[in-house]
Amino acid sequence: MFVRGDLAVFGGKPVRGRDDPLPQLFPRVFPRKALDYVREVVESGLTSDVEERFKRAFAEACGVKNVVTVANCTAAVHAAIASLNLGSRDEVVVSAISDYGSVAGVIAEGAIPVFSDVDVRNGCVTAEEVEKVMTPRTKAIIVVHWYGLMCDMDPIIDVARERGIIVIEDCCQNPLGEYKGRKAGTIGDLGCFSFDPEKHLSAGGGGAVITNSDEIARRVEKFANLRGAEFIPRYGRMHTSF
Ligand SMILES: *Cc1c(COP(=O)(O)O)cnc(C)c1O
Repeated sequence: MFVRGDLAVFGGKPVRGRDDPLPQLFPRVFPRKALDYVREVVESGLTSDVEERFKRAFAEACGVKNVVTVANCTAAVHAAIASLNLGSRDEVVVSAISDYGSVAGVIAEGAIPVFSDVDVRNGCVTAEEVEKVMTPRTKAIIVVHWYGLMCDMDPIIDVARERGIIVIEDCCQNPLGEYKGRKAGTIGDLGCFSFDPEKHLSAGGGGAVITNSDEIARRVEKFANLRGAEFIPRYGRMHTSF
């Protein structure tokens, strides 16, 4: 545990300096298997089931019923907000410390992000801080499991359930993190993930929404991947509303 005086900003010895920078992101080193997967997709003429296999493996690893793959986590949160029909004047409580991707979809759908402070010990929102900024217009809470640490979820879920509010977990920085035996993203109503090169679980790009609700999964898929349409076999895309 750091004490205040140890931190370089307060005069302590820096862990990193100009001659000892942080590890660089590029060039990336990919395992051989990565190229095999790309080849499989290309050689199959885009009919490979590699994505389905990933979805099954990720669902099993998380212990969740549905995985919807999307472009990135910004799209995942956007699809989550849209799938819940949140919009004009609805308020969504969002962690004050996060990536802009946690907020962009809220704004894009016309909802109002309301920022909740975090616990100074782990950078994660708490039920107490969330409650301080909730109003009768609050429709959802986006918690962020920051830097590989989990939010204390039980009290947050209690607050949300009491008022019928949806809980979205932004798990970009904590895939497969655990809280009381449950995996990140399976405690609230939906979990959002990024597979960006900077994240713990990288696919060079990509994201996912996980949920145990078939209805939410269907709506997320429709918004994020089917351009608002249903796919009818032998017919094609049938544009229907939510
Ligand atoms: C990176 C990140 C995002 C955005 O993810 P993208 O896949 O880049 O859109 C959202 N939330 C958190 C906490 C992140 O770290």
